[in-house]
Amino acid sequence: MTYQAAGGVEAPRTIKVHETDNVAIAVNTFGLKAGMTLADGTIVIDFVPQGHKVALADIPDGAPILRYGEVIGRAIGDIKRGAWVEESRVAMPVPPDLASVERSTRVPAPLPPLEGYTFEGFRNPDGSVGTKNILAISTSVQCVAGTLDFAIKRIKDELLPRYPNVDDVVAVTHAYGCGVAIGAPQAVVPIRTLQSLARHPNFGGEVMIVSLGCEKLQPERLLPEGKEGIVRLQDEAFHGFEAMIGAILEMADARLKVLNARTRESVPASELVVGLQCGGSDAFSGVTANPALGFAADLLVRAGATVMFSEVTEVRDAIHLLTPRAATPEVADALIREMAWYDDYLAQGGADRSANPSPGNKKGGLANVVEKALGSVAKSGTSAIAGVLAPGERVKEKGLIFAATPASDFVCGTLQLASGMTLQVFTTGRGTPYGLAAAPVIKVSTRTDLAQR
Ligand code: CA
Repeated sequence: MTYQAAGGVEAPRTIKVHETDNVAIAVNTFGLKAGMTLADGTIVIDFVPQGHKVALADIPDGAPILRYGEVIGRAIGDIKRGAWVEESRVAMPVPPDLASVERSTRVPAPLPPLEGYTFEGFRNPDGSVGTKNILAISTSVQCVAGTLDFAIKRIKDELLPRYPNVDDVVAVTHAYGCGVAIGAPQAVVPIRTLQSLARHPNFGGEVMIVSLGCEKLQPERLLPEGKEGIVRLQDEAFHGFEAMIGAILEMADARLKVLNARTRESVPASELVVGLQCGGSDAFSGVTANPALGFAADLLVRAGATVMFSEVTEVRDAIHLLTPRAATPEVADALIREMAWYDDYLAQGGADRSANPSPGNKKGGLANVVEKALGSVAKSGTSAIAGVLAPGERVKEKGLIFAATPASDFVCGTLQLASGMTLQVFTTGRGTPYGLAAAPVIKVSTRTDLAQR
């Protein structure tokens, strides 16, 4: 990567990621002005907004536009050296062919282990370790969500202050469970997700379900084997709303007592399950925040931790860079399986990949999903990919894991939680109020002015 700053207050600044690139990113807050001379001698001929690309060479019609040393598209019309390589001038390349990508051909050797790093966590009976001590109340159907929200407010006001070792009370509500096609092949995704969420390491094994009673998704399916803890609002013992709320409060109080007896202890960093995500990305995401996160991901893997990266929609166009890193051909096949699922999903809907990136991504300088994907996978660092999870599956392996999720922030966050993520690191270039109730989220911004805001 070369960083050019020619000196002086108004000096143009650009970042070229790879030596073969024929574009660079404008760094100056107010962009590059026509007439500026870059350090390599390129004279800027258009206004180039911050984060957008400037051509470092003449790029003839149909020639490849290179960033990260990869083809992010082909020129539409001749692009002159010094011109703004605006989105409408970049034709999107075809995605890598899944049948011919390399499988486990360049598996990175393990880096030296890092010893002695710890965090203060809560050990659970099932062997997992939480970063928080939360009472979660799950639901088997959307009909109970409003009642549960009312009960949660009462629990927070009346019960939680008595239990200082409990961090919070959260409702796991959703739109699923009533007259759904419970046996449909894809129903496994929401059901498995709700089962996994109820058992999240930050919930201490104290599972509690609020049910209506007549729903297709019977609440027993969300309870671990041999456990009790269901409040059915259609129970004939209840007379009126207050009785239902009273039953929820009573069961919550018993669980809060158990959770309150737990204390934090020093545990090795290898017990952390860290999720990586980006949202509201800009052209700097792939230059500053995501590579920094990739560096941190490598350190965590060396410390023995589990690190999950996700976002199928943004990995698809960079899959040829990931399948060679799969620890085994079986892991590569699982990566390809998740990408094929996405291709099939797009085909069924008659949609294409151009739905991503978003208008905000484009304003931030990302021309298309290929450019976004190349920046996005920088989060994964350089380790071997040790495993692949289908959406909502609980993680078992240590090391770098691909957890298949959509890129949409809260969907990805929820599915990473279901997979057992206990800490998320979230990079952003445009900013977002995103957060999760069930696990801490560390935000990393791509630019200084965003971090200061
Ligand atoms: Ca995202």
